[in-house]
Amino acid sequence: MGTEEEYKKHPIYGTDLNKSASELLCDISSKLQHIRGQVYDVGCGFPVVKEQLVSAEGALTCLIGYIHDLKDKAIANEVAQLTRERGKHLDFKSRGLGKELSSHCFVCGFKDSISMMDNVAAFVRTKAEGEEIASWFNKGGRRLDYREQEPNWLQVKVWACKKHVPNLKYLINHSSKYGVLCKMDVEDIRAFHIDRVTKSGQLITDSG
Ligand SMILES: [Zn+2]
Repeated sequence: MGTEEEYKKHPIYGTDLNKSASELLCDISSKLQHIRGQVYDVGCGFPVVKEQLVSAEGALTCLIGYIHDLKDKAIANEVAQLTRERGKHLDFKSRGLGKELSSHCFVCGFKDSISMMDNVAAFVRTKAEGEEIASWFNKGGRRLDYREQEPNWLQVKVWACKKHVPNLKYLINHSSKYGVLCKMDVEDIRAFHIDRVTKSGQLITDSG
């Protein structure tokens, strides 16, 4: 028996074991959903096996649920690993790119006082966590949206000038993987230059 590191180089079924467990379980889940759809199609097309295939669909639904739970477990494990390597991670559920008046760019501090600037709003878990995340950004470039009358509507908003929209997109992409963010991520994202990405997609930042 080889070690898992050796197995990862030559997996028998050709699975890309450089991906994380959560990504692979996500892939498996979507393949199973596709197969479940095919089972449904076959049942509709061939009534002779329809009844049995309805049972098979049910079994696949159970299996998909099971894989989904395993994926959540893998994500928790991967975030715990990131926390050991890069410090505390807090929930940051991005809502994608938007536009809003008007704050400072979170990278360079530029302020457009006439037109709207691109921004991202992300849900955070508590007011205290929102304040902590906001403190990772430069003062003018972010805001915690907290409403006394709606205490569960908690968002951190971050703005960027036109030149630094790629940094904003990078913030969205990076935080979307697990829906979390850490202070070191924010430093990397602020140091990110769109023209400094190598062909292999590796990032070159000011810090390293
Ligand atoms: Zn800027």
